[in-house]
Amino acid sequence: MAVHGRTRTAHPATNSRWNLMNEMTEHVWTQAEIQEKHHHEKIIQTNITGISESIEVLKRKKLYMIEYDTWEEYCTGHWGWTPQRISQLVDFDVVVKTLPEKVKQLVTTEASARALKPVPAAQRPKVLEQAQKAAQKDSNGHVNARHISEAAAKVVPPKPKETPKQQFFDKTGFEIPENLHNLFLRTPEVMGHLQNLSAIRAMLRRVDETRDPLWLPVNKSMTGSQVDQLYAEIKQALPYAVCIYCQGRDDTMTHCTACKGRGVLSEHFWRTAVPEELKSVRDKANKK
Ligand SMILES: [Zn+2]
Repeated sequence: MAVHGRTRTAHPATNSRWNLMNEMTEHVWTQAEIQEKHHHEKIIQTNITGISESIEVLKRKKLYMIEYDTWEEYCTGHWGWTPQRISQLVDFDVVVKTLPEKVKQLVTTEASARALKPVPAAQRPKVLEQAQKAAQKDSNGHVNARHISEAAAKVVPPKPKETPKQQFFDKTGFEIPENLHNLFLRTPEVMGHLQNLSAIRAMLRRVDETRDPLWLPVNKSMTGSQVDQLYAEIKQALPYAVCIYCQGRDDTMTHCTACKGRGVLSEHFWRTAVPEELKSVRDKANKK
């Protein structure tokens, strides 16, 4: 089995570079560290699988800095690979390592490993067995990334889409607790009635101005102020703010005298009955 496309460039002259690094970092590399670096590079060079730990050690202990300033420079300078390529090799190694011996040999390319990576480890053997069957039906029986992706789609049920938890905020910017969502969601019910009242109010003004004979017997100014009163009263039903006293919590709102157990305050109550200090407390909480 071979991982395709692995080529290596010759080692650059490390000695001068190494001395320079010592000056720059003021870190004197010990003989043990240099040997450790060589040890891991040998593993990477001679093994197809098992390289991920060595790469991890080189990165974690920054042993690549014996030779180069950055990981990126080391990857391209020492190995002739991009850092992305190294990550692909690591992915390949990590994925293959999770597989039982009998199916390991079916993953021969990094593309295959990438196709297998999203599959939960426990289901990978089954996916590979299915992929192998598909490959046998295909031409040469060689399992490729497409076989694996297609088998994975059949074997692994798609994850149910997580519906993100919806966040609702009241007019003061306070997050509405879940138990009050329904009440706030019924806002359009009240709005509908308010719009009807607005329409009556506008009609009364219009017929008063135009002296429309149809509406002559109606006392426009009295009826108008009655509609205004009605509007103000109905508007109290509109959920405006989560109650500032009980915070609309199931356990405390039942006994709350401010919201009368509703958990919600009207705009009128908020504007006229809630002390400014309390409002600013909520304001600060909202900004957090
Ligand atoms: Zn309350």
